[in-house]
Amino acid sequence: MNLTLSLKSLATFLLSASYAFFPTPSHAEENQSNTPFKATSALYSSLIEGSKTNEAMLTLFLNQMPKGGDLHHHYSGTLYAETYLDWVKEKKWLIDPTTLHIIKKDADQKDSLLSVDQVRADNTLYRKLLSLWSDKDFWNHNHPQSPPDKQFFSTFSYFSPVMDEYTERGLQLIKQRALAENVSYIETMLTEMGVYQLFLEQKKYLSYNQSLRQAQSQDEIHTILSQVKKQLLATPAFTLRIDHYISNLEKYHQSIDSEDFTMRYQSYALRVIDPMPVFKDLLAAFIAANQSELVVGVNILGPENNLTALKDYSLHMQMFNYLSGEYPKVKKSIHAGELTIGMVRPKSLKFHIREARKIAGADRIGHGIDLMYEKDSPELLQDLKENAAIEINLSSNQFILGVKGLRHPYLIYSDYGVPIVISSDDSGVSRNNLSHEYVLLATRYQPSYSQIKKYVYNSITYSFLDEKNKARLTTQLDTRFRAFEQKMAKLQTLKLAP
Ligand SMILES: [Zn+2]
Repeated sequence: MNLTLSLKSLATFLLSASYAFFPTPSHAEENQSNTPFKATSALYSSLIEGSKTNEAMLTLFLNQMPKGGDLHHHYSGTLYAETYLDWVKEKKWLIDPTTLHIIKKDADQKDSLLSVDQVRADNTLYRKLLSLWSDKDFWNHNHPQSPPDKQFFSTFSYFSPVMDEYTERGLQLIKQRALAENVSYIETMLTEMGVYQLFLEQKKYLSYNQSLRQAQSQDEIHTILSQVKKQLLATPAFTLRIDHYISNLEKYHQSIDSEDFTMRYQSYALRVIDPMPVFKDLLAAFIAANQSELVVGVNILGPENNLTALKDYSLHMQMFNYLSGEYPKVKKSIHAGELTIGMVRPKSLKFHIREARKIAGADRIGHGIDLMYEKDSPELLQDLKENAAIEINLSSNQFILGVKGLRHPYLIYSDYGVPIVISSDDSGVSRNNLSHEYVLLATRYQPSYSQIKKYVYNSITYSFLDEKNKARLTTQLDTRFRAFEQKMAKLQTLKLAP
């Protein structure tokens, strides 16, 4: 592990050194007076100064602004409930009016079930469906509510039957939405392998689960994982699913990349299931990322306060540690520290980000909200500053954890120089977009225009793209910012004109 990490530190140093050779013309312009940069910066400052921020104008400004990449992005959580409903209609599936779940039966087996058109014709039922399939109207009016984190994660159970049916079109929709708000790169979490469902012989499966949970040392865990890995690689159904996943992605991806837009993928494991299926998913994800240029990283996700996720957290990090040794080139982003006081016992707030870095070797941390409670957080901050980046998801943190404003660690990360990227998480469930995440950032914390611009460039620098594509998208950002700043400078003139 130490060797892997020190090689990684060297790679990080070389990477940052190589970035010194990509001059950003915008930085040169920042030193000149009366440049479009200065006018844009002045306009932005006027919107956040004083006791009242001009949120409407900020929204206009940040919608127009180039936003580079969205690095914390879930494919299934990004599509809106309305889109999923279109697909249910196309499949001629039905909706159960009591539960509002999708029923995979067609019209002649209707009974008491409703067609999508019938649901849409009943405004009350339709509104109720949107409020269950997304976070819509959760805070707007009084109604029986489940806890917000449960509401958020349960939305997936409503649209999951249809979410993998039209992936190619879903990706196209995401691309169109990205282009419409000046986003040039998306790194989306998408996996359709389902290898967790492939069971080893039941007795063996239970015994592996048990021995992994009881293992006393890293060596013991590695020995068990290497036995399981050997068996899985000798199972044709396992390797076949990885091959299918890659060839499907290649098919979906054919018309995605264009001159003005690039997309890449992360595969992942769900953390709320037994150790064996988690390891199967992680192994398949590492292999896919190792084989395919489209799969640029691996992640682990799901509610971190789930009982199994809490119980097995350290074991999952050990799995990352083992697989990092086996596939050292694979990049890792890890959902870690998406927890807060009151949600779990204090002891669970002490080590998640730390282990994601020190044991799993995460290149990026998703959320990182429990930083303040972590053991030796000053030392952790220094490590994050030097070796990782943090993915900030303001809407999602506010909804799921109730953490916002000065309770959010954004200011710590920003004040101590940890590289920050702003991302959207699940913009379909949150009914949001990346521009609005920047609006929240600007209204809450008033970062300078230069700081915001830095976050946009970070979203390419800390992406898992290869160096050639990073250089290409950085140059593209320079051009986009030049055009944007000229447009904003012109807008200022318009305002001052009599
Ligand atoms: Zn996420």
